[in-house]
Amino acid sequence: MTVHPLPLRFVRSAVDVRDLPEGPVEIAIVGRSNVGKSSLINAVANQKSLAHVSNTPGRTQLINQFQFYRGSVNHGMVIDLPGYGYAKVPEKIRSSWQRMIEGYLLERQELALVFVLVDGEIGPTKLDIQMLEWLRHNEVPHTVVATKADKVKATKRGDRYRELAEGCQLDLGDVLWVSASKGAGIETLRSRISDLLTLV
Ligand code: GDP
Repeated sequence: MTVHPLPLRFVRSAVDVRDLPEGPVEIAIVGRSNVGKSSLINAVANQKSLAHVSNTPGRTQLINQFQFYRGSVNHGMVIDLPGYGYAKVPEKIRSSWQRMIEGYLLERQELALVFVLVDGEIGPTKLDIQMLEWLRHNEVPHTVVATKADKVKATKRGDRYRELAEGCQLDLGDVLWVSASKGAGIETLRSRISDLLTLV
């Protein structure tokens, strides 16, 4: 069965969780800069430039809110959180982004699930592991999504899938592998998001 692109439209950006109005249920997407977050949001919505795709680190520094709508009904929100781990950004700015991300994840009542993106080609970095430990410690519900599946050679796939899951301290079946450029896994991700936003 084909899962249609999610009807998403940009609503607002915020610098702080307290700037967001109360609303329906939300799912959030986090990941290291360059992990493929913007490409993935564009792929689930089948839009070319809904989320900004750029090789310039540090461009997306705000909490971006996208509405999942049907007609005039607002079913929920997809939240694009700032990418973490920009090497060239001064410590002061980095720590303010971290406060922004953590503030949202801890305080947002509407939050139902966080998708944590991990680069499938390079596996979990130290920062990814820190983020996962932090989410577990704070009991924030989350699912790991491995991006850029097309960059993993078919002959290496079994080993790489196992290594990535182990690195994240997860079972193989708990990681959703996707490719924004080739479409693999995108329909599964669409279904999960759509189920969460329409059923919760
Ligand atoms: P963001 O910084 O996390 O938003 O990452 P982007 O979506 O801007 O992607 C970073 C880079 O990875 C860009 O050059 C994308 O073209 C590339 N990229 C993203 N997703 C994929 C994918 O599924 N496959 C491949 N091969 N490249 C991807």
